Amino acid sequence: MADVKELKEKLCYLKKNGLTLDSVDGSAVEQFSKGYMDFLGKAKTERLSVKEAIRLAEAAGFTEFDADQKYSAGDRVYVNNRSKSLALAVIGTEAVEKGVHIAAAHIDSPRLDLKPNPHYEEAEMALFKTHYYGGIKKYQWTTVPLALHGVFCKKDGTTVEVSIGEDENDPVFVVTDLLPHLAQDQYKRTPGELIRGEELNILIGSRPFKCDEGSELVKLNILKILNEKYGICEEDFLSAELECVPAGKPRDIGFDRSMIGSYGHDDRVCAYPCLMAAINIDTPKHTAITVLADKEETGSDGNTGMNSTFIQFFVEDLARMQGGNGYRALRNSKCLSADVNAAFDPTFPDVMERRNAAFINYGAVITKYTGSRGKGGTSDASAEFVGYIRKILDDNGVVWQTGELGKVDLGGGGTVAMYIANLGVDVVDLGVPVLSMHAPFEVVSKFDVYMTYLAVKALFDAE
Ligand code: MN
Ligand code: MN
Repeated sequence: MADVKELKEKLCYLKKNGLTLDSVDGSAVEQFSKGYMDFLGKAKTERLSVKEAIRLAEAAGFTEFDADQKYSAGDRVYVNNRSKSLALAVIGTEAVEKGVHIAAAHIDSPRLDLKPNPHYEEAEMALFKTHYYGGIKKYQWTTVPLALHGVFCKKDGTTVEVSIGEDENDPVFVVTDLLPHLAQDQYKRTPGELIRGEELNILIGSRPFKCDEGSELVKLNILKILNEKYGICEEDFLSAELECVPAGKPRDIGFDRSMIGSYGHDDRVCAYPCLMAAINIDTPKHTAITVLADKEETGSDGNTGMNSTFIQFFVEDLARMQGGNGYRALRNSKCLSADVNAAFDPTFPDVMERRNAAFINYGAVITKYTGSRGKGGTSDASAEFVGYIRKILDDNGVVWQTGELGKVDLGGGGTVAMYIANLGVDVVDLGVPVLSMHAPFEVVSKFDVYMTYLAVKALFDAE
């Protein structure tokens, strides 16, 4: 009679907690998370992510891409798309037309954007009106310290950068909420309406400009401060992009420090591994491209989103440089769409189908398809391509798992995968499982972040 244990090991798919494996180098995990936490603390918006990514890339020898120049194997270039999305390439030894290996993540995260006319005064307090960006549970964004980042683009062509609330000596801002004593009627609202979009108003000041007459003196005083500090007047808000995000730095979570808590993991937790894979790679066989995209959280549209021609034309430029064809290059290309998936939460087990849920510390999660209600709005990676990825992950010691975003028909979501798939590229989603996704403070496991890096590196290193 066959030994049951032996037979099980041979035939059954056994998932294992990565932290129980001897094969994993704990100090490498810790070192990588330190770099990630440092990046994440600076990359609070898509613009700041691009800025920090370029800083790291230039330090590693990347230069700005010139479409009229010829590059050879081992050359490192980047394209800055309007300071909000970025593509980096390390030229391979094989012709671009034979296919490139792409890792694509997004660097925008849910947040509160200021409206074009944000500034007002009410009851001798000054506030900003906001329009939330991406999918948020609005009630989570009240009574959380907020920082303000962004740019004013003035009529004289100059741009003024604003970044306030991250330094411990900076002031912060906040959306106020109703005290429980007076919340009887608020509790009668539906949960999605507990805090309404038009109630996400940010408190920015309360000191009136010292003067005997006139109205809205608190607002005037704020404008005076902004004018002195940034040289702007109220009209300059009309051509600004100002984003309110939770203030503060990433922190270790747990007595064992196995996890990281922070704003903006989705999707900088995949963007950083993709960036580091590009930075750390030697000359690859296939040209390695890392894409850091904007606008994923609002559907990937717009000229900095993945549904634009940005990447298509970048690959075409690279192919043309060698006398090749862009469309052929894309048709032969492979991509990991690096985005997060929901991690199983023991407090809310009912939304998950356990056999197909992702767990923290089980490694990078492959999501074969996203979408909702009968796989609507997904590219659904082919079995052939998932088979290929399985092999390179296993060959390179990557701990990984599969996951679905919750039970069938319970919800769903999308990533940039389908926009890249629509270019004719083979794509599958792979990334980090996240707890409290889209909240002001999200949680990931350090181990999973490192495995995502190893996964992207494995694709870049692949033959
Ligand atoms: Mn995402
Ligand atoms: Mn998201």
